[in-house]
Amino acid sequence: MILISTTHELLRGLGVDGARLTGGRLQVHTPLTGECLAELHTTSKDAATAQIDRAAAAFRSWRTVPAPRRGELVRLLGEELRLAKPALARLITIEAGKIPSEGAGEVQEMIDICDFATGLSRQLHGLTISSERPGHRMMETWHPAGVVGVISAFNFPVAVWAWNVTLALVCGDPVIWKPSEKTPLTALACMAILDKALARFGDAPEGLAGCLIGDATIGEVLVDHTAVAVVSATGSTRMGRAVGPKLAGRFARAILELGGNNAAIVCPSADPDLALRGVAFSAMGTAGQRCTSLRRLFVQESVHDAFLDRLGAVYRSVKVGNPLEDDVLVGPLIDKAAYDAMQAALADASARGGTVTGGERILTGDDDAYYVRPALVAMPQQAGPVLTETFAPILYVMRYQTLDEAIALQNAVGAGLSSAIFTTDLREAERFLSAAGSDCGIANVNIGTSGAEIGGAFGGEKETGGGRESGSDAWKAYMRRATNTVNYSSELPLAQGVSFDID
Ligand code: NAD
Repeated sequence: MILISTTHELLRGLGVDGARLTGGRLQVHTPLTGECLAELHTTSKDAATAQIDRAAAAFRSWRTVPAPRRGELVRLLGEELRLAKPALARLITIEAGKIPSEGAGEVQEMIDICDFATGLSRQLHGLTISSERPGHRMMETWHPAGVVGVISAFNFPVAVWAWNVTLALVCGDPVIWKPSEKTPLTALACMAILDKALARFGDAPEGLAGCLIGDATIGEVLVDHTAVAVVSATGSTRMGRAVGPKLAGRFARAILELGGNNAAIVCPSADPDLALRGVAFSAMGTAGQRCTSLRRLFVQESVHDAFLDRLGAVYRSVKVGNPLEDDVLVGPLIDKAAYDAMQAALADASARGGTVTGGERILTGDDDAYYVRPALVAMPQQAGPVLTETFAPILYVMRYQTLDEAIALQNAVGAGLSSAIFTTDLREAERFLSAAGSDCGIANVNIGTSGAEIGGAFGGEKETGGGRESGSDAWKAYMRRATNTVNYSSELPLAQGVSFDID
């Protein structure tokens, strides 16, 4: 009961209408205790279609607003997020189960991307290209792409929306968001925060940003609607396999941010203390529920036993429990399905000769809350559950002899999101980063696999979907490119020397 009233109070404080929190069919549970926090009304398919239609109408005016003016809206959003940070961070902890510093970190990431996008609004740029024809100029122009649909996962309930909405808005695109059905409350809070920025901004078109509450079926409306030019979909590879072909079928652009099965390599020259910290945070942080969580660890034969001993001690010492209590580093799994998937993977690993330590449920007196001790599994080989993502704190540890062998093992899975090497040997580090090294979208040296900054492009290869979001030139996915050739001569020379003489 305490969490329900705290949650409603936080939501009202952020500007969410209290009447929206009761009387609907979508029950929202906190993983902290399992209790039901709210019963939301879901968006009907007709209402979803109407929202998308309104966004399509908004596009026609928003696309001609000068980009730096569009950036002003995102700047205001950043200001509102700064004010809302403590309350929104607390809501993330309650709804998604993150420890307070990670909840606050997620809001900080939203603020950071607002700053980035505001600057970007004065930097949207194309190339000029030398023409082969005299008196001609070639250039690229970038134009808004259209309505952007955002589908997001429970584990980054708000940051993923921020990565997308900030770039899309400065690029001239309206945004309709379908958050995870497991974390709709933080989404309602974000929409209320954006509403405050819109009110201060003044003249944004009606329908510029919207939110659809519901499960996959309402996400499908976004995927299928022909007015949605770009869909940025974050979630499991299973979801990507459903969404990707549909978007391809109607030639819409897809930004797919799917599952990871991330690995780190610990070399003999690694700084052991640093490697230990990097591995521990990546593998146990967010209770193993990050797309970039470390799931596979390859340790060179000569340092394997000593490293595993120390890691085991860290695993035993980490405090697991309700993140609202002091010193907790590992919060709950999101729900029972996550717990069952974890236990099934551990049983499978055991049957394949793995030695499992940890993984057991920690009872808190709340039957519907699922806390587990993170599991360390010494595996004789990379097989079975090691090859796929289980969204839980399981770290499979394997030995290797040569770096080539470790890189080959690291790359021998379907996903291609994040990877890391711990070494102080320059040659090893550079080999890992080279064309013959890691095949992932993220490859780090002496840093774990998780905890990316917003300045770089974020995303992965292979079954992770190939999408890129956030920094670098990820903005280009939200715009369409036109190549322009301008003839300022009085002749009409054709390219490639073609002649077409009509005299
Ligand atoms: P999920 O795939 O179950 O759901 C993600 C979202 O997709 C939800 O909003 C869901 O309603 C929607 N969805 C599912 N099927 C759909 C369909 N057919 N059409 C339209 N929408 C559909 O994922 P989850 O359990 O919420 O999140 C965990 C997964 O997300 C993990 O696999 C994790 O690795 C991945 N993830 C990836 C990234 C990344 O950037 N690569 C980031 C966060 C999470």
